[in-house]
Amino acid sequence: MAERKENVVMFPFMAQGHLIPFLALAVQIEQRRGYTVTIVNTPLNITKLRSSLPPNTTIRFLELPFCSADHGLPPDSENTDVLPYPLIVRLMEATLSLEPSFKRLISDITHQQQGYPPLCIIADMFFGWTIDIAKEFGIFHTVFNAGSAYGMGIYYCLWLHLPHCKTNSDEFSLPDFPQVSKIHRSQLSNHLKIADGTDSWSIFLQKALPQWLHSDGLLLNTVEDLDRTGLQYYFRRKSCRPVWPIGPTDSFMTRARPGKEACLEWLDIHPPASVIYISFGSQNTVSASQMMELAMALEASNKNFIWVVRPPLGFDINSEFRAVEWLPDGFEDRMSKCKRGLLVRKWAPQLEILSHESTGAFLSHCGWNSVLESLSNGVPIIGWPIAAEQFYNAKLLDEEIGVCVEVARGNGCEVRHVEIASVIEMVMDENGKGGDMRKKACEIKEMIKDAIREDDEGYKGSSVKAMDEFFN
Ligand code: UDP
Repeated sequence: MAERKENVVMFPFMAQGHLIPFLALAVQIEQRRGYTVTIVNTPLNITKLRSSLPPNTTIRFLELPFCSADHGLPPDSENTDVLPYPLIVRLMEATLSLEPSFKRLISDITHQQQGYPPLCIIADMFFGWTIDIAKEFGIFHTVFNAGSAYGMGIYYCLWLHLPHCKTNSDEFSLPDFPQVSKIHRSQLSNHLKIADGTDSWSIFLQKALPQWLHSDGLLLNTVEDLDRTGLQYYFRRKSCRPVWPIGPTDSFMTRARPGKEACLEWLDIHPPASVIYISFGSQNTVSASQMMELAMALEASNKNFIWVVRPPLGFDINSEFRAVEWLPDGFEDRMSKCKRGLLVRKWAPQLEILSHESTGAFLSHCGWNSVLESLSNGVPIIGWPIAAEQFYNAKLLDEEIGVCVEVARGNGCEVRHVEIASVIEMVMDENGKGGDMRKKACEIKEMIKDAIREDDEGYKGSSVKAMDEFFN
């Protein structure tokens, strides 16, 4: 396809759960739609993003001056694979300083001093401040949100209205979202539990989240048929601009990583659907005692597993993992000798693991990228949501879709190994609920495939149509 001169400028937040779907969308826009794409980010991220691109793309990168250390953050905060969740709001606040340089950069591009003039800006949900800049230069602006409509809708409502602060009851309704059943206090992230409108998270999010409504539209990395209840939340808000469910964007980014083969070879020697993959995403980790309970449950359950391990809560998430201290005596050796369990340090090739036929279930924190990657491969989920909207993704998967059983909530919870083992047993059992979940997950896999399908006879799935509408 010949290169089009219209330039789509994309500006993702610097955390893996945002960068991965943004980059996937960028490649899709460039390769399937033929637009020029420019990604704006910090120098450290640009180096990494560049090296993650598949061959034959001509995506351009433009740098904004930013260094985490200047804001009192650890020096590599903006480009680490694993960004601890508590640092996120500090990084969000620090990125507010990018406003003048982003404006200068848009002015330069508009006046063709740096590439083609921008046709539109696609910005992260945390960069609502880019809307005024887009308006000033008369550029179409849209927010790209990598979460589910359901999960983000609930999260948005909670931060905006803080309904849990207005009741003593353990369960409460959402003022703005009558389609969802009550929320339980255990489904609040630690920051929400203590929020009262004057804390730094409330102050940042109560300002940043409503800014979406002033954008010209909202792109969501979700699938219409999977997320109808959530989409109603946006559709019924009169002030809301168009919403385009265009997901899932194909996250190829993890495929470019080295050192993945050992993991996949390990999977090759195991029977189909026999391995549980365990990961808490790129920002979260569980407590030391919960890690111990999980290890005991895995050992007792006699099931195969790959577990992406990180230091427990309270330790530097990026420091070395000390299995001897944090896991039962001899656990790793025992599991490794009988080829029953593989511990992967810090980061695993998740997409390849989930698409391997030996993977039978995913014990996940229910980050939306992980959910989509799991369901796109027909893998049912054991939910252990920890923060942000992960609790509501798990709620959607459990109550509305039937592909998830929750085993625990939050990183302060105390679930015992016996309970974890019994959920593992249930989900890995082909008969009963486990079988039903796997069947349902396979149906969802087909639903997702259909949403992104486009054929020579003119068929277009819902996500392709949404993308067409967005570009029209
Ligand atoms: N990921 C990965 N390997 C890991 C951990 C995470 O490839 O060891 C990728 C995962 O495939 C997903 C993203 O990082 O694309 C995590 O996004 P998600 O929304 O699931 O969770 P978050 O990290 O934002 O909490």
